[in-house]
Amino acid sequence: MYRYKNIIIFFDTEGSYGFPDSPYININDNINNIISVLDNYRAKATFNICAKILYEHPDLIKNLYSEGHEIAAHGFLHENFLRCNFQYLKNIMDEIDRAFISILQKNPVGIRSPGLAMNLLSPTGYMHKIKYRGLLSKHGYKWISDNCLYPLFRQPYTNLKIKTTIYRLLTPIIARNISIFHILEIPILSPLDTMLFPPEIRFKTKYSDLMRGFRILRSFIDNSGEIFNFNFHTEIIGTGNRILLLDKILEYATSYLECKFIRPVDLI
Ligand SMILES: [Zn+2]
Repeated sequence: MYRYKNIIIFFDTEGSYGFPDSPYININDNINNIISVLDNYRAKATFNICAKILYEHPDLIKNLYSEGHEIAAHGFLHENFLRCNFQYLKNIMDEIDRAFISILQKNPVGIRSPGLAMNLLSPTGYMHKIKYRGLLSKHGYKWISDNCLYPLFRQPYTNLKIKTTIYRLLTPIIARNISIFHILEIPILSPLDTMLFPPEIRFKTKYSDLMRGFRILRSFIDNSGEIFNFNFHTEIIGTGNRILLLDKILEYATSYLECKFIRPVDLI
């Protein structure tokens, strides 16, 4: 077991564009809740944000950026990139650039494609992905994070032992950085919070479910190599009582393992 870890903390931030059935999302509150926990551990995180939200919350985003958190792209309106035709994808990329330049005066260098659409296991997805990587390269992207062993972990509660064993075997391979079009690939190395909690849970989670989520994340981090990432949604972890899970897992990472929190931009 590697005790020394470099940890990236991702927060996908998509508001009602990613969670259309949740009318009560308050992005400001959610991010402030998250920041108050991160600050306790002096952790800088990476927010993958739908670009439209940059226009809607310019001060919040500028503030995050100036405090040292990385701001990456996550579509414009959380479009499913696999279902977009190429011309439409090009338009989205232009829209994203415009939003980043208008609010942060710079192009994004990283992106998480919404919906984890670019799965290598789908042949059509693979072709689409090659073209898409070329497009990203033209737009000056330096890193991308949209590959994961998602199908394996769709039900993370079952066969956790088997899955973490497979994971341990595969991690050295997938954690090696594969560069296509000079874009650093950062595979998703932990279950997303949407997989840890039933999707209908928006406001409060049973303490026992939070602890189960904690044990799952802990087992993934224990079994990882020296680079690891946590993958949360601002809308899930930042609301209700789930911020407790963020606090607990960061406490574990800093107390029992030797951790350094990094951002993808530190790797390029
Ligand atoms: Zn998303």
